[in-house]
Amino acid sequence: MSKKIFVTDTILRDAHQSLLATRMRTEDMLPICDKLDKVGYWSLEVWGGATFDACVRFLKEDPWERLRQLRAALPNTRLQMLLRGQNLLGYRHYSDDVVKAFVAKAAVNGIDVFRIFDAMNDVRNLRVAIEAVKAAGKHAQGTIAYTTSPVHTIDAFVAQAKQMESMGCDSVAIKDMAGLLTPYATGELVKALKTEQSLPVFIHSHDTAGLAAMCQLKAIENGADHIDTAISSFAWGTSHPGTESMVAALKGSEFDTGLNLELLQEIGLYFYAVRKKYHQFESEFTAVDTRVQVNQVPGGMISNLANQLKEQGALNRMSEVLAEIPRVREDLGFPPLVTPTSQIVGTQAFFNVLAGERYKTITNEVKLYLQGGYGKAPGTVNEKLRRQAIGSEEVIDIRPADLLKPEMTKLRGEIGALAKSEEDVLTYAMFPDIGRKFLEERDAGTLAPEVLLPIPEAGGVVRAGGEGVPTEFVIDVHGESYRVDITGVGVKAEGKRHFYLSIDGMPEEVVFEPLNEFVGGGSSKRKQATEPGHVSTAMPGNIVDVLVKEGDMVKAGQAVLITEAMKMETEVQAAIAGRVTAVHVAKGDRVNPGEILIEIEG
Ligand code: MN
Repeated sequence: MSKKIFVTDTILRDAHQSLLATRMRTEDMLPICDKLDKVGYWSLEVWGGATFDACVRFLKEDPWERLRQLRAALPNTRLQMLLRGQNLLGYRHYSDDVVKAFVAKAAVNGIDVFRIFDAMNDVRNLRVAIEAVKAAGKHAQGTIAYTTSPVHTIDAFVAQAKQMESMGCDSVAIKDMAGLLTPYATGELVKALKTEQSLPVFIHSHDTAGLAAMCQLKAIENGADHIDTAISSFAWGTSHPGTESMVAALKGSEFDTGLNLELLQEIGLYFYAVRKKYHQFESEFTAVDTRVQVNQVPGGMISNLANQLKEQGALNRMSEVLAEIPRVREDLGFPPLVTPTSQIVGTQAFFNVLAGERYKTITNEVKLYLQGGYGKAPGTVNEKLRRQAIGSEEVIDIRPADLLKPEMTKLRGEIGALAKSEEDVLTYAMFPDIGRKFLEERDAGTLAPEVLLPIPEAGGVVRAGGEGVPTEFVIDVHGESYRVDITGVGVKAEGKRHFYLSIDGMPEEVVFEPLNEFVGGGSSKRKQATEPGHVSTAMPGNIVDVLVKEGDMVKAGQAVLITEAMKMETEVQAAIAGRVTAVHVAKGDRVNPGEILIEIEG
């Protein structure tokens, strides 16, 4: 008896999200689509997750246009996306009308299969998205966000799968975003799922700890029907098992995938070259790292955390942050670590380490979480921390979106004529600030993707200016414009990299290296805080809002600023009561730790 195993390739979504901070551009996808479409994959994962954010924030591509182009280029293959339930592709819960509109538009523009998950595994947060997918006539896949903790038992996962089955799902996925699955645990879980419910079982496992291929084999032997892979040049480590490897492993067995290995290898070679183009986004944490079996940090989160720590000159604190993450997670009742809980837990852990005191600063997202604003925590939260965070404020136990009024009309009004379509309104809904900026720049014809550095050759300095590589740009610093030309890049040695630039025609050599303390965003002219009336932050970040103006009277503990670091917002409070005598920041400013942002005279 033979049973064909179906393959989903993640090359166009999760593979580059996990290895290259989601930076692959549509221009590098389209040329190979003809071959991808001939493989005979069950589906290609192409959209959702962080791709929408990366398109709008960094690549200055319209994510909807990417989807339409991929749909046209892949006429014979199911297109799949990852959807965060009621969070859609943003970082908050949306009202039901936004969820319905988003799913309907994703379906119309080309998505066939919706993998829907909730970071808390609270199925109430999946219901509206599942209903919307079914209303569009598409495949709704219910997802178990896999994690380990005292409360995450096989029985609990099976109960969740049965609930999703009764909610109308067409399949169930085990989403092991961190690479936490071990082969025998996988076998037991899949066996229980196949016995207790009737939906096909998909297995999505990251190879972070080097175990994913073994897990998939055990899953297959215990009845799993589908596996997620990545073409080999974007496989393994924080990504997925290599497609060619899994196809070869199963070839000739009762589980043969039937896929053509020669064709897959041609595709693998194509992406081998593509990966080099994005070398500047290769995290140092994409290889196998068994620490995940202890700290539970997913691959995408490690590479993003590493990029953000590096940006802020604090890469050397990585181990401490990784050690703090499980402690924060326990305080929050063991949420699985996946967007957005991975950011919530990761950023709070980062603050706990870098502020030198646990929960000295508590992010607004942690407060919201502890209020029940993301749904029900899988375990019990630390009650003392909850009281510290939210005081006597009420905790909700209903579905968070039940508290939200319809939003689409309001959103349409806010973005106005900048939106040329309902899709544009949804882009704005996902990311109010960067979405609006994107639509404004598109209107003005000034969209410009971030600069890709030329590929360095081993042992030398490469000259910049290869074909299609932008090497000139204008930067604005405190209202003055400078023209910067990248003239060359040295190879990375001893953790340092040399860049050869000219600024307004003057040659400069810049060395980037990890620093022992924050230096943050460069040439700020702000003075260092020395007195209690000097309001400053403990973290580098951006100013989201300034809540006071000169002359205002403030109380001690009153919030005066909202800052954002790593997509998380924090309130900064006045340490003393008094009158605001100076405000040195405005919305959008980049700030560094210890700088005087506001002065208060007591
Ligand atoms: Mn994944």
